[in-house]
Amino acid sequence: MDFKIALVPGDGIGPEVIEETIKVLNKIGEKYNHKFQFTTVLAGGAAIDAVGNCLPQDTIDVCKNSDAILLGAVGGWKWDTLPGDKRPERAILGLRKQLGLFANLRPALLFEELAEACPLKSEIIEGGLDIVVVRELTGGIYFGEKGFKDTELGRAAYDVEQYAEEEVRRIAVVAFDMAMKRNKRITSVDKANVLESSRLWRSVVNEVAKDYPDVELNHLYVDNAAMQMVRNPKQFDVIVTSNIFGDILSDEASMITGSIGMLPSASLAKGNFGLYEPVHGSAPDIAGQNQANPMAAILSAAMMLRYSFGLLKEADNIEKAIKSVLSQGYRTADIMSSGYKLIGTKEAGDRIISQL
Ligand code: NAD
Repeated sequence: MDFKIALVPGDGIGPEVIEETIKVLNKIGEKYNHKFQFTTVLAGGAAIDAVGNCLPQDTIDVCKNSDAILLGAVGGWKWDTLPGDKRPERAILGLRKQLGLFANLRPALLFEELAEACPLKSEIIEGGLDIVVVRELTGGIYFGEKGFKDTELGRAAYDVEQYAEEEVRRIAVVAFDMAMKRNKRITSVDKANVLESSRLWRSVVNEVAKDYPDVELNHLYVDNAAMQMVRNPKQFDVIVTSNIFGDILSDEASMITGSIGMLPSASLAKGNFGLYEPVHGSAPDIAGQNQANPMAAILSAAMMLRYSFGLLKEADNIEKAIKSVLSQGYRTADIMSSGYKLIGTKEAGDRIISQL
């Protein structure tokens, strides 16, 4: 099959990890007889330098005409003094908005081989961990009405948490569909003991659940969920939650897995379209030094194959290849510990390809 992929390498280590990812995808294409057609576009600091705008119209057009987007990372010290609305990171918000990317998927997968990187006790994570946080991405308090007003106690500021039924329904459907492909368990996280918006959230999730009788649903308040994540993370399979709660819980879940260099993510629109990117940023401290771990970007490409292209065995193949490289004892600097063999970005890419 043929697939059109918009490539947004971005800044810092972005281009380095994307280069290794392209190598992996080309090998997968060869092995399974698919054609991946890449179109590279500018975004972030690279676009500011080239055309004075972090998200040029041409980039949006190419992304809209592609089957999926693969992004490295944007941002860096060079652009840190620009005002907020001119910064490279705005490119990501712009893409989310322009492309209707309302569902953020953050798997927190702890490879058994990296168990020592996990800050939790070994008995808590025995056998590895595999959680997906499905976070609503375009609604809630980050996008609600906000402002200032004068009160008896002085100037006050407010940000409104508001969710419409349809916004909750569509994210719940994404999460239930995902649960059907996994272990058929969902935890919906809210604060329904206090917030009206959470009570609506909970009732819509319960309605959606009626269409998925095979999926076991439970509800947790966000404070309890944060506690359970470190107490007994294995109870979770798919977690679905609002924008702000998901922001916090997905970072907590990813911390459990040890290195930021191992964490992929997806942001999905209605249908099969999605933007795939590593969770990490542009890491200016190690950019251009062949030190970046490309595995998060490569795992993001595996998510793209699975969720946007429906290529399940190809995605599995990539994930297994990464596992083999780890079990052979190879480590990039971010996941290195004594007794293992240190490799750079390019060698990591080459070793993964050799296991495909
Ligand atoms: P960062 O994720 O870039 O780096 C944090 C630390 O993790 C650094 O020490 C870095 O060297 C290390 N690290 C990150 N990715 C790694 C990898 N693949 N392999 C090995 N080590 C890795 O976060 P930061 O330093 O807070 O941000 C740097 C820049 O990236 C900022 O301009 C920030 O705004 C931007 N950023 C962009 C995105 C994005 O593009 N989605 C996300 C987060 C941060």
